[in-house]
Amino acid sequence: MTLSAISQINGVITRFAPTPSGYLHLGHAYSAFFAERAARSRKGTFALRIENNDKARCLEKYERALLDDLSWLGLSWENPVRRQLDHTQDYLNGISKLKGMGIIYPCFCSRKEIWNEVNRISNAPHNAVIGGLGPIYPGTCRTMTLDEQENRILSGHQHAFRLDTMRAIQIVRREQEDFHWEDLDYGKQAAKPEIFGDFIIARKDGATSYHLSVVIDDAAQSVDLVTRGDDLRDVTHIHFLLQKLLQLKSPRYQFHRLLLDNNGERYAKRDNAQSLRALRAQGITPVQIIKSFGFT
Ligand code: GLU
Repeated sequence: MTLSAISQINGVITRFAPTPSGYLHLGHAYSAFFAERAARSRKGTFALRIENNDKARCLEKYERALLDDLSWLGLSWENPVRRQLDHTQDYLNGISKLKGMGIIYPCFCSRKEIWNEVNRISNAPHNAVIGGLGPIYPGTCRTMTLDEQENRILSGHQHAFRLDTMRAIQIVRREQEDFHWEDLDYGKQAAKPEIFGDFIIARKDGATSYHLSVVIDDAAQSVDLVTRGDDLRDVTHIHFLLQKLLQLKSPRYQFHRLLLDNNGERYAKRDNAQSLRALRAQGITPVQIIKSFGFT
């Protein structure tokens, strides 16, 4: 990147957005440092967000532990920390807006029904899985009449909400030519949200999807450079679409490598032996950790 490009992004706001569903591991530490360095090296601001929307998986003990681990690592962040559960209304407003545009619909399908349908219409169902989001939804509930939707809801069927992605793209593209998001390292990326099909906006248990929450949160925290692991590169296509639909400014993105353990596997929260807590207990210091990342 040229010096002038760097100076244009002085003063950026970056964030680290962990989900408190387990103890943080080295992969999280790397991601947090990456975001913090991206901000500090440009005289910017480093923000923290607790992504605790998923009440079934997130626990307060993990939230307390992650704040403690990040402080132990020597990181500091802007206050207040944004906690998703304190902002439920923001996500509901987002859903209402999409509903008002007529581009989300209730989906009554179970996972099993979706897989059965995918298998029925496709010879190679694994091709229908993308970006870790499960199979591309075959559209079963998209054409349901309003009467049928109402009958199902009245008879107590639980439903999620899905975005009618093709309609959503049409609406956005009608109004703007430029359908690209910005990768700080690789420049303009043509947005291709269609590769995900009709993805979930709100789950059956009422929790809003990661995708909807993350774009609302990043905008609320004025994040203008989102840094995160390479595994989340593809979903940026749908985040971009949601930003356009909700008229939110699209930040720039930068992706970092995923840290691997000694077996060449990605670190996982379920493996407590690899957590920062466990390393602390073994006497490993933050300086050793930072050195191992290759940060200076
Ligand atoms: N909460 C997500 C995670 O823990 C991070 C998502 C993001 O950085 O956009 O994987």
